[in-house]
Amino acid sequence: MEIFTGCMSPHVAPLRTDHMRLVWQDPLRAQERVRVIAWTCDCKATTYELCHAGGVAFVRRTVQLDRSVETHETFRWSFRRAESVWASLLGGEVR
Ligand SMILES: [Zn+2]
Repeated sequence: MEIFTGCMSPHVAPLRTDHMRLVWQDPLRAQERVRVIAWTCDCKATTYELCHAGGVAFVRRTVQLDRSVETHETFRWSFRRAESVWASLLGGEVR
């Protein structure tokens, strides 16, 4: 019997063929307080979070591996710019 577990958070749309690529860099080891504003559903191995930290914003990508997690971040942007990148990410226009 299949048990349905409803997803509460959005998933990223299938990647469009003309998508743009984001630069994913190692996380900054800054001692900053990060506030997670939005996130994608964790039923996928790869999840994305829209983060605010110290007046700037960025997207964090977490990939669940067998025994560890791999985390990368985008560049830091203004809240507004990050918001538009986030929308494009969910829409499959950037990855
Ligand atoms: Zn899900």
